[in-house]
Amino acid sequence: MFKKCKVVMLPARKATTIAKSMTSGKLFYHKTLELAKRHNEWEGGTFMNLYVLSDDKIEANDWCMCDDRNHISENPKYRLGKCIKIVNGWIYTMDGMGENPDWTKKIIATTDLNLTVLSDKSNFEVPLPMPSDLFIKKYCELKGIDQVLVEYENKGKCVKCKREKEGHVCECGEDSNYEYQILPKLASDNTITIRKVKDSYTKEEVIKLLETYSDFVDDLYRPHTSNNILAWESKDEWIEKNL
Ligand SMILES: [Zn+2]
Repeated sequence: MFKKCKVVMLPARKATTIAKSMTSGKLFYHKTLELAKRHNEWEGGTFMNLYVLSDDKIEANDWCMCDDRNHISENPKYRLGKCIKIVNGWIYTMDGMGENPDWTKKIIATTDLNLTVLSDKSNFEVPLPMPSDLFIKKYCELKGIDQVLVEYENKGKCVKCKREKEGHVCECGEDSNYEYQILPKLASDNTITIRKVKDSYTKEEVIKLLETYSDFVDDLYRPHTSNNILAWESKDEWIEKNL
């Protein structure tokens, strides 16, 4: 399934593989830091980072971005932080600030290598997932893409050690006691899968969507799920995931 996510670009503190030219405003991207640095030297630009933000629930140790709209007289300010605790729904980050959940979003992928999390597998701090090379290139070509669809999947995590499900019995000895969460699908190179938000459809695509939707409605009106509130909530969810 796919979820609509927001993409934000911000100036970076250190050199990155993406930069914005000061003269032309163009974005350029190189596969290696060396090439990007050299290009940036003669082009004269600012290094940038990309952040993919979702509406996913924020928990302790998640990186999040606060779009600080309290400063209405200035440009919107963005602040990055790692959540340390949630109190009455407010998101507290390492600098002790409490952020309003309405304008604080979870960072699910980024080119910013400074945002690290403790890996389930290795017990080392590792960078967050990245958008793919292809996406970064496209983003630079188009000088920005504000909204994308990100592929999610249902992942099982061990209730005891919180590691990802592998096999019937977890390494920690816990026997098939897993909790399931909808999380971004990751490729083996730690990149997320991004699809563009469509705004026009061919006749064939509309037919395919109608078929998917009628299957979905069939499922909804089976006796055990027939419930109007559920149907309406789920219709919005279906639209969010499929359109
Ligand atoms: Zn376990």
